[in-house]
Amino acid sequence: MLTCRISPGAIAVFTDRTGGVSYPPFDSLNLATHVGDAGADVRENRARLAARLRTTPVWMDQVHGAEVRVLATVASETAGECDAVVLAGADGHAPAVLVADCVPLLLADETGATRAAVHVGRAGLLAEIVPRVVERMREMAEGSLRAVAGPHICGGCYEVGASLSERARPFSANCTTRWGTPGIDLVAGIERQLGGVPLRAAGGCTLEEPALFSHRRDGVTGRFAGLVLRDTPRPM
Ligand SMILES: [Zn+2]
Repeated sequence: MLTCRISPGAIAVFTDRTGGVSYPPFDSLNLATHVGDAGADVRENRARLAARLRTTPVWMDQVHGAEVRVLATVASETAGECDAVVLAGADGHAPAVLVADCVPLLLADETGATRAAVHVGRAGLLAEIVPRVVERMREMAEGSLRAVAGPHICGGCYEVGASLSERARPFSANCTTRWGTPGIDLVAGIERQLGGVPLRAAGGCTLEEPALFSHRRDGVTGRFAGLVLRDTPRPM
């Protein structure tokens, strides 16, 4: 598990494959219900994560779209069908995104009261979900926004067709893979779309690191999570 600070009031957490109960090819901390893993095992994995972080994650039914959901109160463990969830308050909850190559993008304002988890693959990048999230967060943020991009497939590994790479050019996200073919650099595009919100990259490439789930490397596999926790100062 990887943790790093987003802002004075918010902490980013990225899980990895370890610490869960799922069997191969979902071993072991698969947190997704839609990939074919046993439901009871996923529930146990999610419960272990919640207990370890002392928070209640708010999951999404991700569809590679551009729907942004803003919640002031949390009534369910899922925000429904969307690819970005923004919490306003709801301190005991953590917006959560599931990935295995796509970018888990996390944002927060200075106090950590406003926090977001965003699913950014090539579809989300081309659909410009990131500017939509930033716009919604700026309406309610206290102080400036900051962002952290977690482990994802790097531009050097992410080969796509030439026409797709070309479609990423307006966002400066077209690139060349390590073996010289057209690719997409998701984080380069995200940085451009953040429009000045400072971005920090955390963790390595999913395809290159066996400790992370990678859909492109393994096909049927699990998903790891990125979550934003509010970090309230403790009384002295
Ligand atoms: Zn890579």
